[in-house]
Amino acid sequence: MAKVNSIAFIGLGNMGGPMAVNLVKAGFSVTAFDLSQAALEAAKSHGCTAAKSVADAVAGKDAVITMLPAGKHVRAVYGGDDGIIANAAPGALFCDCSTIDVQSARDVAAQSKDKGFAFVDSPVSGGVAAADAGTLAFMVGGTDEDFARAKPVLEPMAKAVLYAGEAGAGQAAKICNNMLLGICMIGTSEAFVLAKKLGLDPQRFFDISSKASGQNWSMTSYCPQAGPVPASPANNDYKPGFATAMMLKDLRLAQDAAQSAGAATPLGAQAQALYALFAELGGADTDFSGIIKMLDGEWQQ
Ligand code: NAD
Repeated sequence: MAKVNSIAFIGLGNMGGPMAVNLVKAGFSVTAFDLSQAALEAAKSHGCTAAKSVADAVAGKDAVITMLPAGKHVRAVYGGDDGIIANAAPGALFCDCSTIDVQSARDVAAQSKDKGFAFVDSPVSGGVAAADAGTLAFMVGGTDEDFARAKPVLEPMAKAVLYAGEAGAGQAAKICNNMLLGICMIGTSEAFVLAKKLGLDPQRFFDISSKASGQNWSMTSYCPQAGPVPASPANNDYKPGFATAMMLKDLRLAQDAAQSAGAATPLGAQAQALYALFAELGGADTDFSGIIKMLDGEWQQ
């Protein structure tokens, strides 16, 4: 199994920028490319080499990491004469860390494998702060062999690198997890809203429910009610964190996947509708836990 020394990193946005820096800190030689000149300059100032194009970035590198907005960007960057597949070194390893639809992940994996490349879909959980700190959780889809090759490349950016299954399974795990998170956040918010209307002190309700069967991550680690969990965005004016627009993107991906797979996900559909409403009311850039404000009628843009 060829050891990875040189990496091309494509997509240096809010997440990709700090992720590339953590790879430089870990001793990899990182060549970076982004359509944004500002993002490219920032990467350069942190020790990356700036490339002129995707083709220029990937030429001769052991591995290529992509961190792009959506499936269409990933398909475009991997495909075509100027793309990754046409220009990468034979046998290179590809890791797509973007959150995209399962079908695009499977298609790009198949196109890469056809040409003899290793490919994993490796979306992440954790926001910009985790990207900065190198504490992301990666959910990885691909063969056992490709996973073993990708793991040491992803580790400098991670607190956990978790194997999900065959190609596309990383994206599947990510959207199923985030659908559950969206549903739990709304449920937790509704419980606090009702508790208050019933005259329960929010802190007392937290103390009880966090030790009873209502306990869940949205309550004990990321509480939407200001007060009980000091580090939660609720105590910082609902600054993200994880923005509502991002949650909505993942809930839409989950509904698209549910439709094509024939899965019944009525609560996922309802969560998508509620987050779409919150975004429409001006909450798109607010942390997703801010939906409690809409539910309790206190939301003001
Ligand atoms: P972003 O919009 O900040 O960054 C995307 C970058 O890709 C931009 O800099 C853009 O210029 C670049 N790009 C687009 N097309 C390109 C092309 N053809 N060639 C080169 N560069 C190109 O997005 P982000 O917040 O960094 O998110 C990236 C991915 O990570 C998304 O799929 C998102 O869903 C996922 N994600 C984000 C978060 C978060 O909290 N921000 C958390 C988990 C996962």
